Amino acid sequence: MARRTQPRAVPRKIEIRKNDIVKVIAGRDRGKTGRVLSVDRQRGRVLVEGVMLVKRHTRANPARQIKGGIAERESPIAISNVMIVCTSCNRPVRIGHKVEMVAGKARRTRICRKCGAPLEPKR
Ligand SMILES: [Zn+2]
Repeated sequence: MARRTQPRAVPRKIEIRKNDIVKVIAGRDRGKTGRVLSVDRQRGRVLVEGVMLVKRHTRANPARQIKGGIAERESPIAISNVMIVCTSCNRPVRIGHKVEMVAGKARRTRICRKCGAPLEPKR
């Protein structure tokens, strides 16, 4: 069953950001791909759309417009179990960096280690 991870005192360096497309590489939902909904830097976990679905039994609360029944919700998974998917070579890759000088300031962008394309999500 699910293990409890202690919150870390120091936030870990996390390269994955919200709205990234990631592939699950380990665990129950290995092989699934989804969009990152949120990143928990303290615990080193991410919430991925459609991954690690758990059934929540909710009680109806008409005052707050909450319907009762069984709802499927995502639960967070460890960051080490996901890899970012490169949108140009379409496979899970490790993250590299490129430092560019933009208007006299150094800007660090994440790039694909395989093809060198930037890994910023399209908006
Ligand atoms: Zn690539």
